[in-house]
Amino acid sequence: MKFGTKAIHAGVEPDPTTGAIMTPIYQTSTYVQKSPGDHKGYEYSRTHNPTRTQLQNALAALENGKHGLCFASGMAAVDAIIKMLKPGDEVISTNDLYGGSYRIFTKIFQNYGIKFHFTNMQDLDNVEKLINRNTKMIWAETPTNPLLNIIDIKGYAAMTKKHDLLLVADNTFATPYLQTPLDMGADIVMHSLTKYMGGHSDVVMGAVVVKDDELADKLAFIQNSCGGTPGPQDCFLVLRGLKTLHLRMERHCQNGRKVAEYLKNHPKVGKVFWPGFEEHANHAIAKEQMRDFGGMVSFELKGDKVEDATRVLEKLKLFALAESLGGVESLCGHPATMTHASIPSAERLKAGLSDSLIRLSVGVEDAEDLLADLEQAIG
Ligand SMILES: *Cc1c(COP(=O)(O)O)cnc(C)c1O
Repeated sequence: MKFGTKAIHAGVEPDPTTGAIMTPIYQTSTYVQKSPGDHKGYEYSRTHNPTRTQLQNALAALENGKHGLCFASGMAAVDAIIKMLKPGDEVISTNDLYGGSYRIFTKIFQNYGIKFHFTNMQDLDNVEKLINRNTKMIWAETPTNPLLNIIDIKGYAAMTKKHDLLLVADNTFATPYLQTPLDMGADIVMHSLTKYMGGHSDVVMGAVVVKDDELADKLAFIQNSCGGTPGPQDCFLVLRGLKTLHLRMERHCQNGRKVAEYLKNHPKVGKVFWPGFEEHANHAIAKEQMRDFGGMVSFELKGDKVEDATRVLEKLKLFALAESLGGVESLCGHPATMTHASIPSAERLKAGLSDSLIRLSVGVEDAEDLLADLEQAIG
């Protein structure tokens, strides 16, 4: 099946009891057994729930994986993945990582004796030098947030195979419409379904998708033991969102391109970050591993003053000033004071996240209206 057909059909079956074409919301915590242990595959909804099962199957199909596991948020999915490790283990990740992932790594798991290295993952040799006998995992997020650097998934897959490490790819920004990391050799795909996958800014949820049965068992054990699972109503909302993923992504990409090109030619705008530009440092890899370049665009203002960025953000009307991304509506944000405020300022600047940097999540509205909004705000 091609992607659009899969988005609508894969992993989802009509309800066996009624034939309902849309997966019912099985709003139940428990399931009646005929005799002890004699049940229909469902015992308790932390462990399994039919609405969640269909969503997990749909996600596995879209990522070309075998097993999908849903969590109450993207962070609960991150939490479950890191809980496969033990004290003394080490993880290497990028230095412009999603702020919440940076926070859980450094403020939570570091206290449990797991060590994290943050480095420029565009430089593969540099990363390979950090590998030692305690290294267990490489954590890639691509495109990165908010600088939209591209990490070479195939390159890291070769490295992790060679050193017997796990490669995790946070695929939140790209979605499987743009790239399928498991096909490129990643072991684990992680998602914040809150963003493009849900797509309507009405639910918080996360997921993990894997091919390997043993990894799936480990993660399912953690999912059930730690209990960070989503409710059936939220699973229904994501299932509904997934059915238009390909349509939304196509428009996000078209609008993203128009916004990036508009900003690039604006006299008050400094650097524009968008992997579709030929001069983008990782454009060649982006072209190879992604179908298109996505709807996220970041830019700096000339002079790089926080006050200028604040003024633009206050003036934007269609681009709502809000955390998050990937919904049908356009959003804008200021990483330095919002999503990445938990990263110390010296480290933030070192990673290239300047004071006036504005991040846009370009929605699926009419591009003309979005450009007019940017014009009146930056103008
Ligand atoms: C939002 C986000 C997360 C965290 O997901 P939540 O659903 O907010 O818990 C992780 N990684 C990336 C790249 C994100 O954008």
